[in-house]
Amino acid sequence: MSPLLPEQTPESDALRARFARVAMRSAPVPQAVFVRGEGAYVWDADGRRFLDFLAGIAVNSLGHAHPALVDAVAEQAARLIHVSNYVTTPQGIAFAERLVRLTGAGETGRVYPANSGAEAIEAAVKLARRTGRPRIIAFENGFHGRTMGALAVTGKPALRAPFEPMLPGAEHIPTNLAALEAAMGDDVAAVLLEPIKGEAGVMPLPEGFLTAARELTTRHGALLIADEIQTGAGRTGDWFATQHEGVIPDAWVLAKGIGGGVPVGALVTTGAASDLFTLGQHGSTFGGNPLATGAADAVLAEIERADLVGNARRRGDELRAGILGLGSPLVTEVRGRGLLLGVGLAGEVAQRVVDEAMRRGLIVNAPNATTIRLAPPLIIGDAEIAEFLTLFAESLEAAS
Ligand SMILES: *Cc1c(COP(=O)(O)O)cnc(C)c1O
Repeated sequence: MSPLLPEQTPESDALRARFARVAMRSAPVPQAVFVRGEGAYVWDADGRRFLDFLAGIAVNSLGHAHPALVDAVAEQAARLIHVSNYVTTPQGIAFAERLVRLTGAGETGRVYPANSGAEAIEAAVKLARRTGRPRIIAFENGFHGRTMGALAVTGKPALRAPFEPMLPGAEHIPTNLAALEAAMGDDVAAVLLEPIKGEAGVMPLPEGFLTAARELTTRHGALLIADEIQTGAGRTGDWFATQHEGVIPDAWVLAKGIGGGVPVGALVTTGAASDLFTLGQHGSTFGGNPLATGAADAVLAEIERADLVGNARRRGDELRAGILGLGSPLVTEVRGRGLLLGVGLAGEVAQRVVDEAMRRGLIVNAPNATTIRLAPPLIIGDAEIAEFLTLFAESLEAAS
């Protein structure tokens, strides 16, 4: 048995008490207070070490304190952090060019830089409005963010209810082909989908769904918009999860992993979708600033250089096999792809597993009562996987 972490955490407790006094009540008092990170590890305010298999919810692609990102941020901060969007910078241009290349958006590819996932979704919702059609089809249990437009397309009624009325035209349908066929029509502006629903519990789309959605949207002249905020940037073992099926959407919505922890998002379009916004129809003060785009370009460059997309695929396979190989009666299945995995549990004990893992120095999360989500940094190797499997096995055992 690996030893449990010390339970006395005076520094963290003091900081949590301060948090509780000043933070908006929308944020729960956090379990931990972290002060430093390196690779796949973080340390809390009391010096306890944790193996980070959540990576800031699929954000820290390169892990913590990776020199490629640290240097890019430090150098850019010293050179030029921000200018207005009346002008541009080499970093903003290089970032957009790289995203066009990596998505396969091709010669018609265009990029709108945003500051977060929700902001990139807002851009996608406005893009859909530019078709002149009223309806945006999204999916039950889908998650697209917390701002009003993103919330309207999010398929979780409990999140929307306190903030109604919502943006008109957003609909949520079950994630099956019959429902999509029934919903499609020539008044549909866009179908917005996640290739794997991360917040819903790492739920992949049904077999063939993505390809069928591409065919249906094309037939009805609607946009297919892929929310790859959580699945993008190599996480699933391909640059973008839509690529596994060879599907090219009209637009990709990106954030999380592309910045490696620096807040940045993007809407990437291809084909006719690239001409929907005309001059002055969208913008942002911070969007595309050289600090964020320089950081993101460095993160994406390092993912390319070190073949972290391949690593995500290989390590994902190892993790899946390792978890199933534990033979825990609590584990019913491992869903997802690459390094975005959902471990299905036999009972509603996910939060107990998370808590037991934290006591042992392992960070995972429970997107719902029966799922543990794993989204480690893309840099993990043999040592991190071995340590994870030991700690996770003990956490499962302790929670059952
Ligand atoms: C996290 C997430 C969002 C929202 O991104 P924020 O940066 O939190 O606004 C939207 N869609 C998906 C699929 C996400 O995982």
